[in-house]
Amino acid sequence: MDAGKATLWQLRQLLDSREISSVELLSFFLQAISQHDGTLHAYLHVNERALEEAKLADEKCSRGEPSAPLTGIPVAVKDNICTLEQPTTCASLILKDFVSPYEATVVARLRRAGAIILGKTNLDEFAFGSSTENSAFGPTRNPHDVQRVPGGSSGGSAAAVAAGFCPAALGSDTGGSIRQPAAFCGVVGLKPTYGRVSRFGLVAFASSLDQIGPITRGVRDAALIFSIIAGHDRYDTTSVTEPVPDYSRFEYPADLTGLRFGLPREYLSGEVAGPVKDALSRVSRLIEGLGATVEEVTLPHTSAGIAVYYIIATAEASANLARFDGIKYGYRSRHHRNLRELYMFTRGEGFGQEVKRRIILGTFVLSSGYYEAYYLKAQRVRTLIRNDFLEAFQKVHLLLTPTTPELPFLLGEKSKDPLKMYLSDIFTVNANLAGLPAISFPVGKSTEGLPIGLQIIGPAFQEELILKAAAALEQALS
Ligand code: GLN
Repeated sequence: MDAGKATLWQLRQLLDSREISSVELLSFFLQAISQHDGTLHAYLHVNERALEEAKLADEKCSRGEPSAPLTGIPVAVKDNICTLEQPTTCASLILKDFVSPYEATVVARLRRAGAIILGKTNLDEFAFGSSTENSAFGPTRNPHDVQRVPGGSSGGSAAAVAAGFCPAALGSDTGGSIRQPAAFCGVVGLKPTYGRVSRFGLVAFASSLDQIGPITRGVRDAALIFSIIAGHDRYDTTSVTEPVPDYSRFEYPADLTGLRFGLPREYLSGEVAGPVKDALSRVSRLIEGLGATVEEVTLPHTSAGIAVYYIIATAEASANLARFDGIKYGYRSRHHRNLRELYMFTRGEGFGQEVKRRIILGTFVLSSGYYEAYYLKAQRVRTLIRNDFLEAFQKVHLLLTPTTPELPFLLGEKSKDPLKMYLSDIFTVNANLAGLPAISFPVGKSTEGLPIGLQIIGPAFQEELILKAAAALEQALS
């Protein structure tokens, strides 16, 4: 079996039956990275101690100790999630070489489940972007076509999984950063319900929107990682106490009979690329063939989503990024003559262009005189967007939409035009604004061989239903 294509479940079997050792598995990924990541640039850092950890896992196995679900399996982590002993840079010069003194709860949970943290993946600086071109350390490229972007901001994680550099990775999703790169790279990406997964140790972008989630090769793998990382954490006051079912133990694929899918009318507009529209109709017919129904629904405030998102997200980001001042963390400018200059030069030299743009925008919408006109109004419209979903879920169980309006675009195609770039998130931001869970799963390729992903959005805490539906479609499509 090609370890670069295997699922977590397959790897578990191979390891448990000793057909392969953890050291062999790790060596496979390390070799793939050294051969191809010079071109793709999915990783910002590879863990030098990974091989040692793999040896330990093999020793445990040979002593006959029972394995945990991820024992000896390497997993990659987006570089805005804190790890011990490896840098956490957020792809920013301001955190270049920064090593966190503590680790994120999700990382601790992965390690407790036996995972080896293989490395830290590239992203748009501070997760601000949709193409990974905003990384201060250079862009990631799409493994399906290296002239094209892998999406963003978790582009490194999605590219690493798609290229066979690791079987699974963590991403973060504030407005689409797990789902859009998953769609562009032909892999699965799950954004959980807000509060489902601890954000402790995730470098905050927009705290009311951020969630961590898995990027994997298959739906069941996403369920497995999700089961491991989900659940209450006393270090994150927004994490909820609801018990976490073992999503990985469900029956996959599930029976879809009687399930009602809604296609939101507003997501089918002229902006959507032909191959994406075709994929949506094809999958709708497939759903009906599986005994479920598909009907049109309306989410009338959809079109306000991007405006609302870019007000709220930038407002929260401007507050969250105030901590990078040259005193507490990372980079400090050496040119200053006084404290004010220390702050100014550190931030001026340490932050990239998109980060500065968003801090300025966010500070503006929060400033007196504009707060009510922009920020407060955006909060009100956010409630309307949320209510749209609540109403739709009175009629249907799940919503089916494109993940993105377009196919993976060329490097440089949108980087000069922030508005164009922002519109890439038109179908993903609303799930974050409403706090809802959503998955992107691959449904095929365009004639040029570019991956296409569709999104399923569900009611809060209905990840089980989303995963089951996506698994059934994944199976039917294969
Ligand atoms: N692309 C969106 C943005 O630039 C979403 C980013 C994210 O989810 N982190 O804000």
